[in-house]
Amino acid sequence: MARSDTTTGQKIPILVYHHVYAEGSAELGAIEADNGAGVISEAAFRQQMAYLVDREWNVVSTSRVLDWIIDGTSLPPRAVVIHFDNGWLDTVMVALPILQHLDFCATCFPITDGLEAASERRSIEVRTLTEGVIEKPFMTWDHAAELLQAGWEIGAHTATHCRIAERHDEAGDESVIQEAETSNALFEKHLGFVPRHFAYPSGSRNDSTDTILSRYYRSLRLWHFDWPIRWSFTSADTSQLAIECQNIDVRVPFDDFERIFTEASLT
Ligand SMILES: [Zn+2]
Repeated sequence: MARSDTTTGQKIPILVYHHVYAEGSAELGAIEADNGAGVISEAAFRQQMAYLVDREWNVVSTSRVLDWIIDGTSLPPRAVVIHFDNGWLDTVMVALPILQHLDFCATCFPITDGLEAASERRSIEVRTLTEGVIEKPFMTWDHAAELLQAGWEIGAHTATHCRIAERHDEAGDESVIQEAETSNALFEKHLGFVPRHFAYPSGSRNDSTDTILSRYYRSLRLWHFDWPIRWSFTSADTSQLAIECQNIDVRVPFDDFERIFTEASLT
């Protein structure tokens, strides 16, 4: 199918969030003091979402962007995608109600070991690039089902949140296959389907992991943690194995957030 001329040069911001914490919460205070990577306040998140409404950006699903890239289906102008990585409890408790109120959908990429632990009322440590080794509350599988009911998509993000290129270097193809198959089996068991989209934990990837994971998933999303933040957009010629995104946290002042959309509007 021919892609319409109006969207050929379109640049899609994919905004990646981790934690959204209420003003005054202990978590927000503690992390703002420690550079704020991976964390944003509820007030800042609301302000950003209000900006999307004011400027008439159209929040679309990850699948819709992949259909546009792969099949040439249509996409509205000023399309933007919202992602939440890891499956933290605050995604359901804080971000979901805000987005539901605006009728915005998002995609959540949960760490399945985290959801298993939360569903069994255990806590679990995970290693993240943003916050180091942390033990924070994950959502349960019931929460994930709630996201689906709200029109969200669920993507895969491995079972353990390992740096998968490093895992591959140490333990070979089987270790990557195991991460995909373990997490996919849990998605199937608890939600009744296997995700189509994958986000690389900590952005760790190489050509071998792309090859293996592309047998399981329709798209693989990158993640950058550069400072200053790299402005990168997904466009019609972006590889489905290298979907671009922007990390958004407290280190992105509102002026910079606006700049994403100014730059995305330039063709
Ligand atoms: Zn992650």
